[in-house]
Amino acid sequence: VRSFDPDEEGLVDEVEGPGVELDADLVEVDEGAALALLERVTADLPGGGEVRDAQRTMVSLVAAAWSRGRHVVIEAGTGVGKSLGYLVPAALLGERVVVATATKNLQDQLATKDAPLVAAHRPGLRVATLKGRASYLCRQRAFGVGTPQQLELDQGEPVPRGVATQIRRVLRWMSETETGDRDEVPFEVEDRAWRALSVTPQECVGRAQCPQGANCFAEAARDRASAADIVVVNTHLYAAHLASGSMLLPAHRHVVFDEAHEVRDIMATLLGTSVTATRARALAASARAFVETGARERIDDLVACADRLAAALEAQWAEGRASGLDEGAARELERLRELVTALTEALRTRPAERGAELRHQRALGSALQLGQDLARLTRVGEGELVYLTRREREVAVELSLVEVATRLADELWDHVSAVLTSATIPESLPRDLGLGEVALERLPSPFDFRSQALLYVPAGIPARNDPGAEAAIIEELVALIEAAGGRTLALFTNREVMRRVAAAVGARVTTPVLVQGELSRAATIAAFRDEEAASLFAVTSFWQGVDVPGRSLSVVAIDRLPFQVPGDPLAEARRSLVEAPFVEVDLPRATMLLAQGVGRLIRSATDKGVVAVLDTRLAEASYRSRMLRALPAMRRTRDRADVVAFLRSIDIS
Ligand code: SF4
Repeated sequence: VRSFDPDEEGLVDEVEGPGVELDADLVEVDEGAALALLERVTADLPGGGEVRDAQRTMVSLVAAAWSRGRHVVIEAGTGVGKSLGYLVPAALLGERVVVATATKNLQDQLATKDAPLVAAHRPGLRVATLKGRASYLCRQRAFGVGTPQQLELDQGEPVPRGVATQIRRVLRWMSETETGDRDEVPFEVEDRAWRALSVTPQECVGRAQCPQGANCFAEAARDRASAADIVVVNTHLYAAHLASGSMLLPAHRHVVFDEAHEVRDIMATLLGTSVTATRARALAASARAFVETGARERIDDLVACADRLAAALEAQWAEGRASGLDEGAARELERLRELVTALTEALRTRPAERGAELRHQRALGSALQLGQDLARLTRVGEGELVYLTRREREVAVELSLVEVATRLADELWDHVSAVLTSATIPESLPRDLGLGEVALERLPSPFDFRSQALLYVPAGIPARNDPGAEAAIIEELVALIEAAGGRTLALFTNREVMRRVAAAVGARVTTPVLVQGELSRAATIAAFRDEEAASLFAVTSFWQGVDVPGRSLSVVAIDRLPFQVPGDPLAEARRSLVEAPFVEVDLPRATMLLAQGVGRLIRSATDKGVVAVLDTRLAEASYRSRMLRALPAMRRTRDRADVVAFLRSIDIS
C-alpha cells in the first residue's frame, strides 16, 4: 500500500490548571476505589473484563480534577470508553454531577446503557435524564387541542392534513408513554405538530396552577433530576440553564461536557436569541381572545407588522445579505417590539375570564418572552452578532455571541469543577471556552488503526467545483459499495448533493440504500445496523454520534472536506477577530469535523474497514499534513485496487 503521508507529531504537554472557587469544601474521590469500580463495571461488558490503560488514566484524571476542584480537558480517542471514564468517578463522588452531551444520541446511550451499568455496581446510585420543557408532551395543551381546526388559533394559519394526522397519532401515543419524551415517539413528528402539543418554559402555567400539574411529564422529569446523583442533560439545556440565571437544573458543583468540541457553538447560539414572524403571529392568535374588543386592531397591527417583517427578511435573504439587518427589517423589528410591549401590558391589565386562565397565562408568557427577545435584537450588545438563517419555511433573525470565552469565564468556570471530553479536541478549545491554562490530556485510541483501517483518497478525482466531480463521486461510491457488499456510510456536506448522489447510486447497486430523512434518526441508524448489506447516505448530524460496530459498517465515504460554506455570518465574525482566519478558524473546524466523520468507522477492536475521502485536497493541499495528523494513523492509498483487495481481505462475507 502506497502512502501519501507527511509527518507525525507528538502529544501536547500537560499544563497545571487553575483551581475553581467552589462555595463549600471539596469532596475527594478515592482513586483506588474508582479504579476498582471501573474493573468491576468493565467485567460486565460484552466480551468482558478488558481493562484499558487509557480508560484507567481517564478515571484517575477525572477523580484528581474533582478532588482538587480543577478543570480538565481530555481527548479520548475512539475505544477509550470515555463515558465510563467519567461516570465511574461521578458514581463515587457523593455529590450531584451533571453530564451534558451535545447529541441526544449520546444522552440516550448514557441514560439507557452506560449509567445503568455503573449503577448495577453502586447500589442506591440514582441517574436521571432531563430535557428542555418543550421536549415533553404537555398534557394541558394536548387536552386543549380538540380538533385540528382549533390549531388555527395558535398557528394563525390552516393546519395541513399531514400535521393534523401527526397530532392525532401523538395524542394516541400519549396514553402509552411513560415519559412523554418527543424522542421516544415511534414516528417522525414535524416541529409544527409538536409545537401544538408542547410548551416553552415561559408558556407553562406552572405545576401549582395547572390542572395537569400532578401528571405532568416535564415536572416528573424535573423531580427525578432533583433526586438524582447523576443528571444527564444535553448541552443545549445546560446553555439555557446558564442563560436563565441557573434556574433550570438542580444545584451542582461538578459537570462533564461530553462532545466538548460542540460546546462553543451551542453556547454561542443558546446564550443569544432568535425571533420569527411565525412566533409573533402565533402570539397574536393566542392573545386575541384576551384583549378588549376595542383594542383588537392592535392585534391586527401586530399580524400586519409580522407579515411586513417576514417580507423584509425574505427580501434581505434573497439578496444574499445574511449578516446584520437591512433598514426595513430593523424598522419592522423595532415596531414589533413596541406592539408586543403594548400587548403584554394589555394582557397584564385585563384578567382572563373564568375557565380561560391557563390560556391567558400561556399568551402572557409568550408575550413576555417575545418582548424580551425583541429587546435584545433591537439593542445589540458588544460581542453579539445579528444575522439571518432559513428555518423550515421562513427566515429567522438570530442573535449569537461571537465569542463565549468571557461569558463562560465569568459565569461558569468559577462555580463548577468541569471535565470536558471528546474523541477530538481542537488545540484551541481551552482558549475558545475561556478556560485559560487548563490541563489538556490526549488519550490515544487502543485500536490498531494501521491494521484495522485503510484511508483512501482516489487519485485523479476532479476538484469538487469541477463539473465532472459529482459523476466521479457516484462512480467511486458504486465501486466501493459493490466491493464492500453494501455496508457503507456515505457522509455529505450538502443535502441536495446527498439526495442526487443517493438516487444515482441506488439505481446502480444491488444492495439496499437508505437515505437520511426517510425515517427518524434513530430508526434510520437501527435500519442501517440491522440490515447488514444496507448503505446509508446522510449529512451533518450523522458525521457525529453514529455508533455502528461490526459488519454493517465497512466503508465510511466522505464526499468533500467539511469546510464551512463562505458567507456564514458567525464564522465571518470569528474570522475577523484573528490574524490568520483560514489557519485559526476554518482549518481547525474542518479538521475536527473530518476526524468525527472518520471516527464512525472503527468502533471496536475487531472492526476493519476503509475511509474513502473523495476530495483530492486531503492528499494534495498544502494543509493536508495538519488534517492527517488529526486522524488515526491508518495506512493510506490512492489506488482503488488496494481498497478492493483490502475489503476482500476483511471477513465480511
Ligand atoms: S405544568 Fe406546564 S408543561 Fe406540565 S402539563 Fe401543565 S402547562 Fe403543560
